[in-house]
Amino acid sequence: MALQLRVYVPEHPLIKHWLAVARDANTPSVLFKSAMTELGRWLTYEATRTWLPIIETQVQTPLAVCDAIFVNPEIPIAVIPILRAGLVLLEGAQNILPVASIYHLGIARNKSTLEPSCYLNKLPDQFNSQAKVLILEPMLATGGSIMMAMEEITSRGIESDAVRIVSMVAAPPALRQLSEKYPGLEIYTAIIDEGLNSKGYIVPGLGDAGDRAFGT
Ligand code: URA
Repeated sequence: MALQLRVYVPEHPLIKHWLAVARDANTPSVLFKSAMTELGRWLTYEATRTWLPIIETQVQTPLAVCDAIFVNPEIPIAVIPILRAGLVLLEGAQNILPVASIYHLGIARNKSTLEPSCYLNKLPDQFNSQAKVLILEPMLATGGSIMMAMEEITSRGIESDAVRIVSMVAAPPALRQLSEKYPGLEIYTAIIDEGLNSKGYIVPGLGDAGDRAFGT
């Protein structure tokens, strides 16, 4: 059976709530940042549901032996925030994955050509082949940044089916490109919006996530 990109939009009221707060143009920067952090937390929770490696074993309670499931500590978990705005999603994601290794990737897009360029790459030369990778990319818009990030990650020993992406808002151009090149991928987003404007911003979207979160 051919693989197909899967995009999950969890029907959770907290996700809907924090998305609405983030979308509202009147939301002040400090609250926008909280909304992003909360979306990072709840979307990561959803994304890890069937993805975290587990070990089935038994434990002795004070009363009896019973079956137990632990998160497998032997499988490395890597979280990759795409800077700048991915740093804010990271604050929430780290509540769910406190012992994950964090690898920063700074990708900026040229304001006129919309072409991405990588200004910071803290990825290892090679990932452990068993590693699981969670990418935090707040806005999947033109697809330039996420395609560059996927290229950097998969060229370091990670198959795309070990990767999950968390984003706040996703738009068709990015989803189309991901689907063509990485059909086994899973994405967790708060919403899929209609499209982009001429400047590459998602509409209705929520504006420039980095500017709004950092008040710049
Ligand atoms: N980056 C943003 O911050 N917002 C968009 O709408 C698109 C890319």
